[in-house]
This record gives sequence, C-alpha cells and structure tokens, in this order.
Amino acid sequence: MPQDKSNGIRRNARVRPKIVLVCSLVSILLFSVLFTGVSSGATTGASSGATGSAQTNKYVIFREDDVAPNADFAELQAVNQLNINMNVPVTLGIIPHPYPTPSGNQLIKVNNTFLEYMRSLTSNHLFQFAQHGYTHLDTGPSPVGPSEFYGRPYAAQYDAIKQGRDDIIQAFGVTPTSFLPPFDKSDNNTVKACKALGFTEYSTAFQDFNQNGGNLGGMRLDTISIEVTNNTLQSLENATNQWLNDPYSINTFVVLYHPADFEGPNYTVNASKVTLLANYIDYLQGTGRVQFTTLDHSVTTTGNDTAASSSSEGTTAVGATDAPNVGFANAGAVFAVVGAIVVVSLASIFVVRRRKNKDRPNG
Ligand SMILES: [Zn+2]
Repeated sequence: MPQDKSNGIRRNARVRPKIVLVCSLVSILLFSVLFTGVSSGATTGASSGATGSAQTNKYVIFREDDVAPNADFAELQAVNQLNINMNVPVTLGIIPHPYPTPSGNQLIKVNNTFLEYMRSLTSNHLFQFAQHGYTHLDTGPSPVGPSEFYGRPYAAQYDAIKQGRDDIIQAFGVTPTSFLPPFDKSDNNTVKACKALGFTEYSTAFQDFNQNGGNLGGMRLDTISIEVTNNTLQSLENATNQWLNDPYSINTFVVLYHPADFEGPNYTVNASKVTLLANYIDYLQGTGRVQFTTLDHSVTTTGNDTAASSSSEGTTAVGATDAPNVGFANAGAVFAVVGAIVVVSLASIFVVRRRKNKDRPNG
C-alpha cells in the first residue's frame, strides 16, 4: 500500500509538467488563432467604416447622379433597391433646385413622394447624400461645353452652392460633404467655394482639372473612372480589370450612373439594365480584390457573401447591415479555434503516450 501511494505521487509529479505544457500550448494556439481571426475581420472592412488596416485595398465607389424631385422615380427606387439587396453602398448626387420655379427649397416643395422616399434612406448607412450642383442648368458663359459654374464669379458660385447645401440640410437633416459639379465641368472658384463651405470631397472628370485623384484645393479628389451608360458587362469588366492589374493606378474606381440610365420604353424600368448592374456587382465581388465604399468613405462593405448574392434578384433583402460579412468572418474564426483544439488534443494524447512508453524502462 505505501508503495502504491509513493508510486502515485511520483506519477503525479511527472504528469503535472506535461499538463502545464499542454495547457500553455493550447493557450498559445488559441491566442494566435483569435488574433488571426480579428485581423482578417478588420481587413475585410466589414464591421465598420474604418479602413485603417488597408494595405493594397482597392475601392469601388458607385456614384448616382441627378437624384432630384424630377428624377425618374421608379428607376431611382429600382437601382437603390439593388444596392440594398446586394449590400453595396452608393453616393447619391442630389440636385437641390432643378426647376426654374418655385423659389425656395424645391426638395421640400415640389414632390412629396420623392421627399418621403429620400428621408427614408437617411437611416440606411449604405446611402451617402452628396450635392450635385444647385440647378444643374448650363448657366456658365462657357465656350468649353455645358457647365453650371465654370467662368462665373466666385460670389455667385459660393451663394448657389451654399443655398443648395442648406436646402439639403433642411430637407433631409444631412450635411453633404462631397460636391459633384454638374456636367463634370467647374473651375478654381468652384473648388474654392466648396472648400470654404466645408466640403471635404470633390468628384469630377479627369479633364476638369487634368488631375487623377489626390488633393484638390484641400479636398480629396475622386475622378470618374467609367459610366454605366452604353457600356456592356464585358466592357465594364475589361476597364475594371485594367485598373486592378495596373500597379500605378489610383486605389479608387468611381462608377457613374443616373436613374435615367435605367429607363425602359413607356416609363418602365429597363430590367435588363438593372440586371447588368447586378451582374457587374457580382463580378466585382467575385474578384475578391475590391471593397465597396462611398465618396466620404463613411461605410465600406464587401457586398454579400456568395450564397446571399445569388438570391439577390429581389427575393431576399439583406438590408443595410454588414452582418453577413461579420458572420462569415466569425464562422471562420470559430472553425479555426475548434480545429486547433482538436489538433492540440490529438498531439497531447500522442505526447503523453510516448512519454508513458519512454518512462517505463527508466522507472
Ligand atoms: Zn448630372
């Protein structure tokens, strides 16, 4: 009996360091797995608008212009619904004052259906409200093509932009920070006025300032990369591929469209055009190399995961959350943790068995 007792004690003394070793191995593995999970979650940019971890990230920004009380309403809704279904953000370029009359805030006075619809979008973080000029009329004395602002005095430009900005704030309770000059044509006074009014992002054509991205008068410039109008899926994909594979390209690809681009015959929505955009978004997601964001980068998503996007043709509205991506990342982390536990358990059984065999001849 005493022999047995001492044997037991000696065995415990031998086993204890093994348990400590195995436990610390498990802890180290768990920690590393959890860290990997957290950092991969961050690089997808799924859980927040923060994009701090970006290394070689490429961003696609959808810019929908001519959002106004006189816009094609069914088309506007159809295209926005696609963005909701596919969990892809979009910057809305709002024209505050598209009609010659009445005076005052036309966003409130002219079309109540439009007003209520737009107000309903303000709580959906996929939609950024930006300012697309004031009247969107060719009022600039420009020999270089249509423009609302080009060549007009600074004060006139400042007043018009300020009035439009104030109208958007009054109608929707949102202060626009991105300015998109109509006809993609403006001048240095437009830039100066926007900066003075607190805008932080400016988006126009390359030809407007012969500048591709970078800093424009203290604001970030995002130049238009392609228009959906008159492009086939193939040509959209080709242009995107070229951008993705060009090591010197800027990291943002701005895709422009208008509600009117989705107009079918007899005031109906052109379903094949909407499908074209859906297929293009599918293609972008499929590259696995882009994130979707807005001009102000307030929200970044990778769209839906594959399963959700295949059922996105109107049946399931995933809504305005990044939840599918977060869930996906978490599922991956859980998988990795469970896998690690299984591997470590098997390894420790193996080690204990080997030690037992080794201990026998010595002890
Ligand atoms: Zn426009």
